[in-house]
Amino acid sequence: MAQHDSSARPTQRLSPGVDVSGGVVEVLGPSRGAKSLDEVRVFRLDQPIVITIDGPAGTGKSTVAHRLARRLGLDILDTGSMYRTAAAIAIDSKIELDQHKRLLEVVRASHMTFNWKAQPPEIIAFGKSYARRIREPDVTAVVSQYAGVRELRDLLVGMQREIAKDHPRIVSEGRDQGSIVFPNAQVKIYLDASADVRARRRSEQLKREQNVDTDVNKLRAEIEARDANDKSRPFGALVCPKDAAVVDTSDLDLDQVIDRLYEIVREKARV
Ligand code: C5P
Repeated sequence: MAQHDSSARPTQRLSPGVDVSGGVVEVLGPSRGAKSLDEVRVFRLDQPIVITIDGPAGTGKSTVAHRLARRLGLDILDTGSMYRTAAAIAIDSKIELDQHKRLLEVVRASHMTFNWKAQPPEIIAFGKSYARRIREPDVTAVVSQYAGVRELRDLLVGMQREIAKDHPRIVSEGRDQGSIVFPNAQVKIYLDASADVRARRRSEQLKREQNVDTDVNKLRAEIEARDANDKSRPFGALVCPKDAAVVDTSDLDLDQVIDRLYEIVREKARV
């Protein structure tokens, strides 16, 4: 998926942002075919809205969720970073997969939270940032196994619901957001893409961000293993909620995905 930021496109006279009436102004730029100010969409800031985005690894979920949230002026909750932080804590504290009680104790004691002033919000545990640690390969390799621990899921699901109370206008991204955590969300989206495409994207991302060369076949096998874990666990399994809009991103670039999601939100939330 091309990493092109649509919000950087030229717009008409108004700029996206917060307008005087307390709404977030979204201007459809000329490239989107906007002809008049009638096409300016206004979101009222006092309207609570939960948008869930679920789907397997490598569908571009995280990038898409961040861009959509920014475009709509909503907060963003990356629930994968919470499971990753729990897994990082487990690795660093040498807690085995079957030590559920200890895992819970240490995760609770870490006072996991987000720094909402950072953009995107930064995950904090034991008073320090875990933003980098959770992207390291040892965490990625085991996170879906720790995410299968029921007690951990119960704890993190509870935290996610509390976060949504404090941030009632939110895009929440993960595996179970529309199915379990926010079953009454106004808008539910399920992103998908073929395993080949997801592996290729991940490989391009690693090259771009870390200048690392990877074997696409190995990446695809890892992605498929993580999918299988995520889909087969007894609690909080990755499923497509029946009332979700399914968007296959295999043949779409980032701008096209965001445009599609924006249309879905407008339709479903009637904004
Ligand atoms: O989205 P991300 O790849 O960061 O998620 C890492 C892992 O965390 C997933 O593979 C999945 O096992 C777990 N996860 C989960 N439920 C969520 C979000 C993530 O089980 N809501």
